[in-house]
Amino acid sequence: MSVVTRFAPSPTGYLHLGHAFSAFTAWRRARDAGGRFLLRLEDIDPSRCRPEYAAAIQEDLSWLGIDWDGPVRVQSEHLDDYRCVLSILRERGLLYPCFCTRTDIAREIAASAAAPHAPDGSPVYPGMCRDLSADERAARIAAGERFALRLHARRALDGPLSFEEEREGAIVCDPAAFGDVVLARKDAPASYHLCATHDDALQGVTLVTRGEDLREATHLHRLLQALMGWPVPRYAHHRLLTDPSGRRLAKRDRAATIRDLRASGTSAAAVRAMLT
Ligand code: GLU
Repeated sequence: MSVVTRFAPSPTGYLHLGHAFSAFTAWRRARDAGGRFLLRLEDIDPSRCRPEYAAAIQEDLSWLGIDWDGPVRVQSEHLDDYRCVLSILRERGLLYPCFCTRTDIAREIAASAAAPHAPDGSPVYPGMCRDLSADERAARIAAGERFALRLHARRALDGPLSFEEEREGAIVCDPAAFGDVVLARKDAPASYHLCATHDDALQGVTLVTRGEDLREATHLHRLLQALMGWPVPRYAHHRLLTDPSGRRLAKRDRAATIRDLRASGTSAAAVRAMLT
């Protein structure tokens, strides 16, 4: 089977060395194997993504000599695909509307003795909207109350799941640890988890390379694959680049952006050498 990898940045800022490392890793894996390397813009969050960043990412990758195969997939142009997945899951009773605000959730957590956290550090949703009656849901929706859609984790889980992490072998998943995650937000049509997993399947990605900060999310992605019958790629989560003090590079660190390196006269070859 030929290798298909992808780089899937969210256009919320300029590309920094950490992203370039991710892109380079995926690109190298595809090119070394004579496979395909895809570029996907994960821009479904309208409050954070900007078209100028999307354009800048493509320009910076091209400057680095990282080329991609086929058209760029822009997630905001495919919202119907994600809505379709949501409606399938909803019809199967695996999603429920959640009307809670952040404040409601924080208050409930503060009042309860246990406050479990998901592996990604976010608090687990205490479940206030999980068992609302059909009548109450319908009435609140009819009254125009805004809602997110959450996965009913207990119903969704059906038997053990695992995924293949390149260096470590099979990893047994624990998606229940995330609780009832949001798959469609009040202010964005679908979540990162849903869109990324859908697109990896649609685009025939066989090897997902990405930073180890997303390693835990893979447990959830594996559950979505099982629910939707999507193929399961292999995973290679790579280490994150840090600054000399050991702090993870982030979009706020302007000095590490590819644009600034270029503006300061650093050559593309020198940046690529840094990445290897
Ligand atoms: N869009 C995600 C990000 O920029 C990466 C998604 C992925 O590689 O799965 O953090």
